[in-house]
Amino acid sequence: MTLTIGRFAPSPTGPLHPGSLVAALGSFLSARSRNGRWLVRMEDVDTSRCRAEHASTILHQLEQLGFVWDGPIIWQSRRQQAYLAAIEQLHNQVYVCTCTRKLLEAQGNTEHYPGICRERSLAKNGHYSLRVKVPNAEICMTDRLLGRQCLDLASHGGDFVIRRADGIFAYQLAVVVDDAASGVTEVVRGADLLDSTFRQRHLQTLLGYPSPEYLHLPLVVDQRGQKLSKQQKAEPIDIRQPLPALQLALARLGQPVNPDIDSLAGFWAWAQASWDETKIPRNPQTCGKPASDSGQD
Ligand code: GLU
Ligand code: ZN
Repeated sequence: MTLTIGRFAPSPTGPLHPGSLVAALGSFLSARSRNGRWLVRMEDVDTSRCRAEHASTILHQLEQLGFVWDGPIIWQSRRQQAYLAAIEQLHNQVYVCTCTRKLLEAQGNTEHYPGICRERSLAKNGHYSLRVKVPNAEICMTDRLLGRQCLDLASHGGDFVIRRADGIFAYQLAVVVDDAASGVTEVVRGADLLDSTFRQRHLQTLLGYPSPEYLHLPLVVDQRGQKLSKQQKAEPIDIRQPLPALQLALARLGQPVNPDIDSLAGFWAWAQASWDETKIPRNPQTCGKPASDSGQD
């Protein structure tokens, strides 16, 4: 049997909040319930948005909550060479895009790239972004919770950026390279990333990487139905009171909660013993659509 390797990959743009705690807890319990390893990767690839103090706050919060991870923390800011090598490997699938935001806005839709620069080739240096070509067919994958999901990237966003004009490698590329380098076998994360999964599956295929299993967790929403996220200034977790925060996250994962538990050790023993992923609620709020029979897997 292969060893399960899961991971939690926060972006240090703010402290851990109740939404990211659900992803941390879900990925941890999934890996540990399979006697697997659980890694922590700091997604600080976008140095313009990430701050070292947030990274240390997140690690401190995880520790105080009683999470235990395997191996050293992986820092994306130190993995530039690996991303560069991947881009070189993708060479004829990647092209230089010199379109400005202004130009794309004038075309009417900044969410969908119409392929203007597609016939250009890859050039190594210079201040322009690099895009990868997407296929003219649906990409499909089977989510452990949501079942088979497909998306046609050509009509959803089009060719996407893997390195920005300012030289920063895009999230999609960094995640795929790092998950493969760490031997990650399962990606358990929020359903807001479901549409990214199709882009990541595409890159895995082009790079010849194995595809991990995916499980997209329900999003934590506020009273107005909005996703709780750092961008919307969600309240950080109060680590002076780790138990209520953990119990709430466990309940949000649809798991039984034992209100009599009064210690962190008790919580972790209970949570691991009772973990059942089939109980996780399914509410993907994403652009993934139900599978059709066409497409590849
Ligand atoms: N860094 C991403 C985030 O915080 C998560 C990436 C992932 O789990 O693939 O939203
Ligand atoms: Zn372009």
